[in-house]
Amino acid sequence: MEYSKIERCDHTVNPWIGCQKVSPGCDHCYAEAQNAFRKWNGGTWGPHAPRKRTSVAYWKQPLKWNREAVAFEQKHGHRPRGFCASLADVFDNQVPSAWREDLFELIRKCDQLDWLLLTKRPQNILKMLPSDLGDGDPNVWLGITAEDQVHFDQRWKLLQKIPASLKFISYEPALGALRLPALGPYPDWLISGGESGGGTRPVKRRWIRDVIADCRKHGVAPFHKQWGSYQNNPLVVNKGMSVKEAKGLDAFGKGGGLVDDKLVREFPVRRNAANRDAA
Ligand code: SF4
Repeated sequence: MEYSKIERCDHTVNPWIGCQKVSPGCDHCYAEAQNAFRKWNGGTWGPHAPRKRTSVAYWKQPLKWNREAVAFEQKHGHRPRGFCASLADVFDNQVPSAWREDLFELIRKCDQLDWLLLTKRPQNILKMLPSDLGDGDPNVWLGITAEDQVHFDQRWKLLQKIPASLKFISYEPALGALRLPALGPYPDWLISGGESGGGTRPVKRRWIRDVIADCRKHGVAPFHKQWGSYQNNPLVVNKGMSVKEAKGLDAFGKGGGLVDDKLVREFPVRRNAANRDAA
């Protein structure tokens, strides 16, 4: 585990590297591009490429962060959050199940860290979670990526039935409009963001405004991470500023992050499954 550059988290941990594209949100996969450059898996990616488990020394890092968690919380005012698998998918069915069992053992040992498990494969979660899960591990936040309405509707329908102490949506890269349903249940948290890197696809200000309004209406904490590119930034698209002017006013995240001149970066209140059911 190492310090994370992902704004919503304090650390990032990759128990293994390698994955396979499953939907349009994967088209410009950062992990695949990094792997091609760094050759972690021999540069191969996809269904027939090997998944590579990270080193024993690397797996010990979360134990260290767990020991330091109390001091971290005193300094930062919240429990440390670790994003698990930025270069893979925890619920990838090409991964040996023994690796996942080892990961869940590590997660339970590191109970002072909140682990964010984000997947595009919610159909695999229940069969791959430990059988003694009960109402969910209190330090595990389960999330799905939903790049548009179609993928939100497909994936949230599955995640909403799975016990977890906290559930979240990563609407990133936002590739189309996404509205929360009129009736719950609702996730606890929704992170939005435009695509960054080469060949970015546009995100519309309206999509982000609308989904933030839905979050406010339904008690979901919104976190807008970035516009992905200054070509998408509303100061450029809607107010006619140059990229240079926009950069001067909005330097948050990649491509800026202000929504109507404000940062929208809220975090969910941690609660257990019993509280969720009572809410
Ligand atoms: S699920 Fe994530 S890691 Fe896997 S191919 Fe898609 S974008 Fe890449």
